[in-house]
Amino acid sequence: MDYQKRQKRFWHPMSSAAAGHTAPTVVIARGDGNYVWDVEGHRMLDGVGGLWNVNVGHNRPEVKAAIARQMDELSYYQTFDGVAHPRVYDLADRLCEMFKQEDMQRVMFGSGGSDAVETALKMARQYWVAAGQPSRTKFLSLRNGYHGVHVGGTSIGGNGVYHYNHGPLLPGCVQLDTPWLYRNPWGCEDPQQLVEHCIRQLEEVIGFHGAQTIAAFVAEPVQGAGGLIVPPADYWQRVRAVLDRHGILLIADEVVTGFGRTGSMLGSRGWGVVADILCLAKGISAGYVPLGATMYNSRIAQAIEQGEGFSSVIMHGYTYSGHPLACAASLAVLDIVEAEDLPANAARVGRDLLEQLLPLKAGFETVGDVRGKGLMLALDLVTDKESRTPLDPGKGFAARVADAARRRGVLVRAIANKVVMSPPLTLTPSEADLIAHTLREALQECCRDSPSIA
Ligand code: PMP
Repeated sequence: MDYQKRQKRFWHPMSSAAAGHTAPTVVIARGDGNYVWDVEGHRMLDGVGGLWNVNVGHNRPEVKAAIARQMDELSYYQTFDGVAHPRVYDLADRLCEMFKQEDMQRVMFGSGGSDAVETALKMARQYWVAAGQPSRTKFLSLRNGYHGVHVGGTSIGGNGVYHYNHGPLLPGCVQLDTPWLYRNPWGCEDPQQLVEHCIRQLEEVIGFHGAQTIAAFVAEPVQGAGGLIVPPADYWQRVRAVLDRHGILLIADEVVTGFGRTGSMLGSRGWGVVADILCLAKGISAGYVPLGATMYNSRIAQAIEQGEGFSSVIMHGYTYSGHPLACAASLAVLDIVEAEDLPANAARVGRDLLEQLLPLKAGFETVGDVRGKGLMLALDLVTDKESRTPLDPGKGFAARVADAARRRGVLVRAIANKVVMSPPLTLTPSEADLIAHTLREALQECCRDSPSIA
């Protein structure tokens, strides 16, 4: 069957729909453990973990059995007012137990990360209505941030390409500069000074808008889709201190970082920070059944539950809020995450992989930076190391590197001028070696073929 022709009917997400767009598509037919196979039978190490989400590997019998058991028992029921099923309560209890040290008291469910973020934004506003300060409606977030594709998440997102065709977006969304050592507007290379710049800017922005208009600051503990940006170690604690002084909520978008990817159960926990609201998805069900969750601490739970008049009524939720199959899959996935201590494995194997990738910087003119935390890592490709000018994504070099790696049996992902890795957290040390070794060969091939770019 010619799968390339079948592309015609299907508009791929995050892809050009232009007539004549003929980039070949990798069609994945099967997965097992940390590997997938394409329709032609080629076996590839899944260095992308699906889409930062297949954290426990493919085809895990425990997860399949839990889904099948649930399917036999009850495949669907709703959870709106006065109706529920046992699994949604099981998962709510489980998540509150897991994030007890963050004082997480309540949870709402959706079908993915965009739902989790949209729910967080709406409930943050409801919190302020219930708390008697309804003028707090604005959101602060970071450039390069990615928060999904619903209108709220798009509006707070920090990359213009997601805005261009979909405006006008939500008013009252203000982006601040990202604490990015490699590229920042201050040309600052010292982590401590960079944090000072960012904190000063945060104070200025709050001063300009007035804290009484700001609902929340939203950010990813490590920025993923926007370029794999790891902030200096004390950035989050410093931000939290400023927000506390102004009463502003902190929403941690843990859609990628949640459940171990950065080497701790939550990315924010890894930074020693406690958020008021957590956005969770991806690793929560590791790709087996779509699921997202938004969690609230006691400050929010109490205010909303004791809110006056209509402010305690939650007019938000989805047909698939707490889908039984998703809850069953999640409970089985979380068993694996805890039993195999996958956050610790991500920290250990991620550190090894980063160490092996770092020499690529010295070895290739085009590799400007190599960075990562846990099992989220990236190569940042440049035309000139001195000026750190990003390679023009239009030239397709990063995509060619990813393609060369794929032909050698390793899937990685090209995002603009980055080559990104987010393998299952079950990755073994020898599989990490394979990724590093394959990327070196892929770069060698592409630099040989395009010497003017390299
Ligand atoms: N937030 C972050 C940090 C993400 O990386 C993503 C997806 N990559 C989302 C939200 C949106 O998740 P989804 O695609 O499941 O809607």
